[in-house]
Amino acid sequence: MLPTPELIDLCLQDSRLLTPRVRHLTFVRRDGLPQTFIPGQFFRVQIPSMEGPQWRSYSIANPTAPGRSDNTTIELVVTHVDGGLGSTHLFGLRHGDSIHVTGPNGRFCLLPEDAPRRLFLLGTGTGVAPYRGMLPQLQRLAESGVHVLLGLGARSPHEQLYADEFRAVAAQAAGFQLRHFHSRAMPAAPDACDRAGRVLQLFDEFDALETGDIVYLCGHPDMVDAGFERAKAAGLHPRFIRREKYQTILVPKPASSST
Ligand SMILES: Cc1cc2nc3c(=O)[nH]c(=O)nc-3n(C[C@H](O)[C@H](O)[C@H](O)COP(=O)(O)OP(=O)(O)OC[C@H]3O[C@@H](n4cnc5c(N)ncnc54)[C@H](O)[C@@H]3O)c2cc1C
Repeated sequence: MLPTPELIDLCLQDSRLLTPRVRHLTFVRRDGLPQTFIPGQFFRVQIPSMEGPQWRSYSIANPTAPGRSDNTTIELVVTHVDGGLGSTHLFGLRHGDSIHVTGPNGRFCLLPEDAPRRLFLLGTGTGVAPYRGMLPQLQRLAESGVHVLLGLGARSPHEQLYADEFRAVAAQAAGFQLRHFHSRAMPAAPDACDRAGRVLQLFDEFDALETGDIVYLCGHPDMVDAGFERAKAAGLHPRFIRREKYQTILVPKPASSST
């Protein structure tokens, strides 16, 4: 039998609304210990419900170097879904409240054994969270000669999350190219990063995908599926097409469970 994962008690220390429907939450461990994780990983959050605890996954959004053992905060970013159990719970938390999580989990990470020529990273909505976590690594890779191509999609400029942070890194590292795709409304004064349209257009902006490229896709499941098909059709091995679909994954209850 698999060991039961440890439940970690996180206390909400701070929060802010990034848009009316997106909340950035900063937690600390209630036991005061630091938290190790690899950028791109996520926590499973226990959500109380009438039917007993449910689980929802949320990516860790704080920028950090991989494996650092001195992270004292854990940052999550959540889109409110109407009628959604998990996102409504996280939106209702007050400072000082607890959540219980397991993790960190997941392999949507930059791997030390990879030696890509180009990294294509595409995200929609809160699907930018893992890339914010990876920013120090992405900057280092770009400075070491890897071509980092980051495409972030939202409906309008106001919904582009952490835009200033991504732009600051792109401005510093010559090999780091950022594109903000706006599907409904362009900024009043667009700059060289802004594009009208959808994030998959990132593939059209640069030379065709080829061996040596690695693709990361995160966020809306339709975008992730379409991006996967594009990259596969271009000849990339699925090992080099990494996906994180933001959707609720219902975990079946064990037969003996009474909750
Ligand atoms: C590995 C992983 C990491 C994730 N990281 C994040 C993250 O960092 N931030 C984040 O916000 N989410 C993230 N998600 C998605 C998250 O786990 C939940 O699926 C999401 O918050 C909706 O859960 P809910 O309980 O609020 O809604 P649910 O109770 O699951 O759904 C309620 C209703 O809303 C619909 N619905 C669900 N999601 C959406 C949506 N996005 N838009 C419109 N309708 C929807 C459902 O089909 C259902 O009808 C991640 C998912 C995975 C698998």
